[in-house]
Formats: sequence, structure tokens, C-alpha cells
Amino acid sequence: MSGPGRLVLVGTPIGNLGDLAPRAIDALAAADVVACEDTRRTGRLLQHAGVKARSLVTVNDHTEAARTRDLLARIDRGEIVAVVTDAGMPGISDPGERLVRAVAAAGHVVEVIPGPSAAIAGLVASGLPTGRFCFEGFLPRKGSARTERLTALADERRTVVLYEAPHRLARTLADLSGALGPDRRCALARELTKLHEEVWRGSLSAAVDHCAEVDPRGEYVVVVDGAPPPGPATDDELRDEVRRLRDRGMSTRDASTEVAARFDVPRRRVYALATSPSDADPAG
Ligand code: SAM
Repeated sequence: MSGPGRLVLVGTPIGNLGDLAPRAIDALAAADVVACEDTRRTGRLLQHAGVKARSLVTVNDHTEAARTRDLLARIDRGEIVAVVTDAGMPGISDPGERLVRAVAAAGHVVEVIPGPSAAIAGLVASGLPTGRFCFEGFLPRKGSARTERLTALADERRTVVLYEAPHRLARTLADLSGALGPDRRCALARELTKLHEEVWRGSLSAAVDHCAEVDPRGEYVVVVDGAPPPGPATDDELRDEVRRLRDRGMSTRDASTEVAARFDVPRRRVYALATSPSDADPAG
């Protein structure tokens, strides 16, 4: 044990063990306990790194809550707890978040040894805009939660990064194509840093066809272009929108004000369109 207890989040490779950082090896060697998802898998990583862990405990989605109490108690006693997951960064579609919150709330130091994350690797390899993006992890598998998320993504202007299992990829791409439109550009980043690494790029509808041809295997990051900015409003769109609001009982004046604000156009333009002979509402 050295110095005050702390939590150390250690990034590990997403496939290629050569990506394990020297600082990650030092952190694993210095830890009093290494918390991991799977002792066999992490055991192989430690063996590769030449590290003999003093203590190895499992933390997964089911045990994180209970383990958090034990690990926090160990940090309270001055121990260094390192956290790794099966691949990539802890806390990114993996255990870690809850532990960080608890340890930080208890006033202890949380240190991070950054490593690869499939989301970032897939994004930068996609060729899609990287300036603004959102990470969606795995979509909800079914039901209204899935539908709601897909609907929200349709208007998302930032590049969207998703994880998906190979046996659900075809269905997810078909759902994305339905919700976001078949022409939306996407990239399928597969088996990054591994032997069969490849990045396929095309439209969502072509991605669905591609999946039907190749029978997806391995690990995938799906990257989808953001929604295009809305074009300038046409006269017809403005007229239709005012008509819709009038049908709901709004006066032409109020409807014009609201539509002008929503489409960011002058109110007098909307009002003029709404009161032109073909669209005038006798009630005003
Ligand atoms: N914590 C990890 C990270 O930071 O990337 C992600 C863990 S999540 C449980 C696993 C998912 O990440 C996989 O289903 C896949 O979507 C993606 N993934 C992990 N490794 C990958 C790789 N080498 N190539 C492509 N996708 C990968």
C-alpha cells in the first residue's frame, strides 16, 4: 500500500494487446486490488503484461452495486483499487460509473489511465464529421424505449456512435434506416485493432444490403451521420403550418407569430402568406 487510497480507472486494449499502455501496466502492478469483469480474461491480460495482481475481484453489471461498498471500504483503508473491464474504457457501456460516483462522493481521488475505446476509434475511422458527436451505446433492444430513441435520433444533428452485437446488427440498421432515412451516410467499423479490422462506408440502406451479404461476425461500432440542417422554409410549408395551428383554434395573428419564430422568418412574411386570398381566414 502506498499513500492515500484511490480508485484508478485503467483503459485496456479493444483487441490488440500491443495497445496496453506502459502506464496501465504500472497502475495494475501498483494496485492492491484489480476489479475486473472476468477474472480469466483479465488474468490473460495481466500475464501478457507480466503483472501478478495482489488480488483480483469481479465487478459486473449485476455485482457493481454490492462490490462498490466493499471496494469503497478498501479505499477508505488506504488501498489502491484499479478497475478494468473486458475491453476499452471502464464506464463506457461497461461497469465503472457507479463506482466512480461513490468514490468521488466519499472524497477520494479518482485517477484515470486512458486507453482505447471502440467508440472513439470507430468514430475517427468512419470519415463522418468528428467535430460534434453523441454516443448512444447499445440501443434499447425492443419496445417503446427503442422506438422513442430511434425517433429522437432522427433529428440528431451530431454524428451518432452506437455499439451493436453482430446478431442484432441487421435489425438495428434496418430500424435506423426506417427512422433516419435510407440515404443517411453511415460506417460500420468492425474488429478494430484486430486481424479482421475493416471499415465499411455507405448509406443506411446499402448497409442493410451489406449485412445481408456478409453475415456479420465480430464486434461492430456503427457510426451514423447527423441529420442535415433544415433548409429554408418554403411558402407552402409556412402556409401549411399556420393552417395547422388555425385548425387547432389559434388566430391567424398568433399562428403567424408562432410559425415565424419557429422557422426563424419575418412575421410579416408569414402573416402575408396566411392572409393571401387563397388562405385568408374570415375569422382573422
Ligand atoms: N468499454 C468498451 C469501450 O470503451 O469501447 C466497450 C464495451 S461494450 C460492452 C462492447 C462493445 O463495444 C461491442 O459490442 C462492440 O460494439 C464495441 N467494440 C468493442 N471492441 C471493439 C472492436 N475491437 N471493434 C469494434 N467494436 C468494438
